[in-house]
Amino acid sequence: MRTLIWFRNDLRIEDNPAVHAAARRGTEGTLAVFFITPAQWNRHGWGSPKVSFTLDCVKALHHELESHGIPLIVRSVPHFSDISGVIHHLAERYQCSEVHVNKDVGIDETSRDTLVSEFLDQHDIKMVSHEGNSILPPKLIRTGTGGPFSVYTPFRKKWELHLREAGLPDPRPLQVHTRLKPLREPLPHRISEYPDWDQRSRWQGGSKAAMERFHQFLEEPIEDYHTNRDYPAIDGTSCLSPWLASGAFSSRTGIRTLIQKHGLDFDSWPQGPRTWLNEIIWREFYRHVMVSFPALSRDEPLQKWTELVPWRDDPHSFTAWCEGRTGVDIVDAGIHQMLQTGWMHNRVRMIAAMFLTKNLLIDWRLGERFFARHLVDYDFASNNGGWQWAASTGTDAAPYFRVFNPERQTENWDSEHAYLETWLPRAPGSLEPIVDLSTSRQRAIDAFKTARTEYEHDHTEIPALFTPALASA
Ligand code: FAD
Repeated sequence: MRTLIWFRNDLRIEDNPAVHAAARRGTEGTLAVFFITPAQWNRHGWGSPKVSFTLDCVKALHHELESHGIPLIVRSVPHFSDISGVIHHLAERYQCSEVHVNKDVGIDETSRDTLVSEFLDQHDIKMVSHEGNSILPPKLIRTGTGGPFSVYTPFRKKWELHLREAGLPDPRPLQVHTRLKPLREPLPHRISEYPDWDQRSRWQGGSKAAMERFHQFLEEPIEDYHTNRDYPAIDGTSCLSPWLASGAFSSRTGIRTLIQKHGLDFDSWPQGPRTWLNEIIWREFYRHVMVSFPALSRDEPLQKWTELVPWRDDPHSFTAWCEGRTGVDIVDAGIHQMLQTGWMHNRVRMIAAMFLTKNLLIDWRLGERFFARHLVDYDFASNNGGWQWAASTGTDAAPYFRVFNPERQTENWDSEHAYLETWLPRAPGSLEPIVDLSTSRQRAIDAFKTARTEYEHDHTEIPALFTPALASA
């Protein structure tokens, strides 16, 4: 039998269940395919940083696959809905009777897979789905009553319990029965729909670069991760997010390495690795939330009542925020870091997002889209989760009355202005802020409070699903 691997956001060979299964089953060889879908990517808000990095990962993957005798075919179609016909044609042409994939999150991705699977089925080609994009399958962890979690800490505890009991076995070695000749197909370096990204060389696509970065992180920074991770001027985090988002690096590989070193009793881990595990579990949590609450894929907030928040229509302030000239230095520095590098430090992402949604009272969906366009690590679930957290509209959201003060945040995390001096294209304090921090904070609190009261008035109670986060506020 011949098999086909359909790569999406799992652009690696190592620790990739779809790759391993396809190779095992492909007694007469295995091929691989990746679809460039510019119109769909555009609809999903992807920008040049994400697209360029993805193409670089595909290129690196192509070389790796070739060294294993697995040829990679790259095809460009506008939308997900155009994939069925092409993948069927390829499977027929190369006589593949199985197509192996790793499951994706998001409504469009799920319906794409259902459509393709049904289409292939009609032609006696089987699509086999695997779990390769998270450590535990997003739907596995459930509450005592079988529902999804909407608060992080209980999710984390159950997630850890499960992993402690099940362990994280080594992936099977890649076994290729029959090596196929390379196809000498062209690999696009850029696509006409997206302008090339001038910061491309900053982030080297592919698994090899990811593994190097991971090992550098293990050598030292991880030991102090718990103390350094919040200081944006310190290179204290892994910076692995672009590779994790494209699947060139597997979170399983990362956590398995730590388990081999420290064992399965997570609470006895040194604080650095322990804290890093917590962050990886945030990633798992947001994937769990994304598959459990499909409304998120439709731009909806998780806390229903926040639909009543009167977001301000203020293009002038939004443009100032997007261009890093709000006069609030830490916010502007963060935006400049992102515009220049495709990446922003997590602490500053939180501050910038909270400033937009609270002090400017601008709809979180505008910020979410702006980040998607400019982040090299854009990930639908984590970005949506981060924005809804900052806007107090999501699971485990920051309570609406606890609004970050950007000045205090700067004192706490960048007291010597090392971050500001690196990224701010002007002297700190030299531009008058576009809003008064204290009155705009109160305006947001009042707006949220009124929205909540109105909702409660019309609905005798807030839907049970959405209460835990509020209760923990
Ligand atoms: P590390 O601190 O080394 O953490 C390791 C990995 O854990 C990260 O690479 C990431 O995969 C995961 N992780 C860490 N923190 C979080 C978190 N809060 N939520 C989910 N996963 C996390 N992350 C993205 O990968 N893509 C996004 O599009 C994205 N958008 C965000 C938007 C906002 C408004 C906020 C507040 C956060 C967003 N994050 C996003 C989460 C977080 O900021 C980044 O994952 C992190 O800054 C990446 O840097 P790192 O790889 O050095 O992380």
